[in-house]
Amino acid sequence: AAMRQSRIKRTKTVCTYCGVGCSFEIWTKGRHILKVEPHAEAPVNGISTCVKGKFGWDFVNSEERLTKPLIRKGDKFVEATWDEALSLVARKLTEMKEQHGPDSIGYISSSKCSNEENYLMQKLARAVTGTNNVDNCSRYCQSPATSGLMRTVGYGGDSGTVHDIAAADLVLIVGANAAESHPVLATRIKRAHKLYGQKLVVADLRKNEMAERADLFLHPEQGTDLIWLSAVTKYIIDQGWEDKQFLCDRVNGFDEYAESLSKFTLDYAAEKTGISKDDLIKLAEMIHVANSVCILWAMGVTQHLGGTDTSTAISNLLLVTGNYGRTGTGAYPLRGHNNVQGACDFGSMPAWMPGYEAVQDEKVRAKYERAWGVKLPKEPGLNNHQMVEAIQDGKLKALYLMGEDMAIVDSNSNHVQAAFEQLEFFVVQDIFFSKTAQYADVVLPASPSLEKDGTFTNTERRIQRFHKVFEPLGDSKPDWLILQEVANRMGADWNYCDPGEIMAEVARLAPIFAGVSYERLEGWNSQLWPVAPDGSSTPLLYVDRFGFPDGKAKLVKVDWTPPYDAGKEFDLHLNNGRLLEHFHEGNLTYRVDGITHKVPNPWLEVSPELAAERGLQSGSLVRLTSPYGEVEVRTLVTDRVQGNELYLTMNSFEDKKMVNRLTSSYHDKTTHTPNYKEMGVKMEILESE
Ligand code: SF4
Repeated sequence: AAMRQSRIKRTKTVCTYCGVGCSFEIWTKGRHILKVEPHAEAPVNGISTCVKGKFGWDFVNSEERLTKPLIRKGDKFVEATWDEALSLVARKLTEMKEQHGPDSIGYISSSKCSNEENYLMQKLARAVTGTNNVDNCSRYCQSPATSGLMRTVGYGGDSGTVHDIAAADLVLIVGANAAESHPVLATRIKRAHKLYGQKLVVADLRKNEMAERADLFLHPEQGTDLIWLSAVTKYIIDQGWEDKQFLCDRVNGFDEYAESLSKFTLDYAAEKTGISKDDLIKLAEMIHVANSVCILWAMGVTQHLGGTDTSTAISNLLLVTGNYGRTGTGAYPLRGHNNVQGACDFGSMPAWMPGYEAVQDEKVRAKYERAWGVKLPKEPGLNNHQMVEAIQDGKLKALYLMGEDMAIVDSNSNHVQAAFEQLEFFVVQDIFFSKTAQYADVVLPASPSLEKDGTFTNTERRIQRFHKVFEPLGDSKPDWLILQEVANRMGADWNYCDPGEIMAEVARLAPIFAGVSYERLEGWNSQLWPVAPDGSSTPLLYVDRFGFPDGKAKLVKVDWTPPYDAGKEFDLHLNNGRLLEHFHEGNLTYRVDGITHKVPNPWLEVSPELAAERGLQSGSLVRLTSPYGEVEVRTLVTDRVQGNELYLTMNSFEDKKMVNRLTSSYHDKTTHTPNYKEMGVKMEILESE
């Protein structure tokens, strides 16, 4: 037994799925994954995990892993050596840059890759290519929240930790399905609610699990969250319940903001949102009597035409009631992917250098120009939505995409795929031959987190290390190494021996990471940015000051943007979201047999009223059609949804069931985040049972 034990390796890692950031030890023997063991020392989850973190790792050994570089020859892909593939990538990108200028190239980074890899991707774009055309998938999810928070309180991240959420007197969840999307975080709320008297309010179109448990469930008309949030804020001010001292000492712009709320009366809100005046007053009273309030939100808020403004309205409500800077208070946009926070933090964004220093700030550019020995582009680049449009306009000719299945996760996938066909040169770097890889000229095989070292940053701004468990499969390589080799073949001279050296460079350059180091992140240690030079973290933001030069927050006026109307013909509203077992487009979880066996397919939730009206049962096959495409899916009749509201689980691996065949290219006006949640569809029955 001792011999056997000695061949078992235990390695600390961080979950590769959602933004909660659970860490645990993974037990392996050779390439065989024996089990996942959570530990009490794990800073976020302790001994908890969800089904994905515990059982969702078999994709690593999938036979479908890419193990050799591929180069397109006509309609086929042929295996190539690394030397051939890298030389071709470097030569083509250099040619594009010389012929059409650096802005003819775009880079898409990955929320599945490490912080260090995201840093190198933006460095490849900015320092080696000379363009700010670099972005990541937060554009599809929480960019509006980042933007709403940066406007009002100065930092685009969660105000505090999961501990703060659990410590709140009142938790308000808006447009988030926490029990399925952020399961371990949701367990902390469930416990605080059940055992410690925490109050829970949920506003959602769908009566999800947290809504079932809530003290108050609000069911607004789709796309009207800004209205009820503003009406509750106005009512609080009208009653004189605003936190006067806090507003006076710490917030700018109160009078003007309060005036801007005049139209958001309870009558107006009740009419537009369908929420009763009584419930709006009840919520205002609950906020008033609570000593500490946290607001959590996700895609149900952000993926709308007015996503940034609604996120701003949430932050305004917290400011008016003094709910920032104390334990149990603050704003919590829940991050989807395990490292979407880090992808933004480490600079894979068109307007921001690492640590949210503006590209347009001359001093910031000068600092990086000295460090990197190059001249940097001055203007913000294109975001990923704009890159798709620029391909269609013939302005963007080459795209380098790392760890992102953009052909199916961007909205209006038929449109995005048509754009990819027009690219003159397309590099896809991934662990699988994704749907997007079909459009590539070169496919580079990368390694997942278990095959490399690095750090991830979770939704709390917590940076944690993960360690290499196995060697990369076949000829695949860690993304950071691939990026380094491409950069060097394009004329750079990068010599990073390991990701710790990359992090040391970031710490020297980006003030919010000043004290981050691999030594300080040993074992179960973690650091939450901003990290002071002495290594101390900031678990709770805004204790003394907000992230603006005068230290004060700003109340920002916002107005309501009605949701997109696809026209009368599209008579049903389609909402969509995650389910517990699968993750996003399914490239990982659909390759885990245990999970796929349990949940093989997405489904469409239909209300009992609509089912009766249309003659549907659970298990009927229907076709949904939007102005942009169609999908076929089986139904589940459930009272989680009401009336003409449909809900499609978005995790699908089969082309004709993918929700983004239906979604449009309309987007939030500030961030270009697509309005995935505002979809009008019509429904045809193909088989009623
Ligand atoms: Fe992984 Fe999120 Fe589940 Fe934790 S809650 S185990 S981070 S998917």
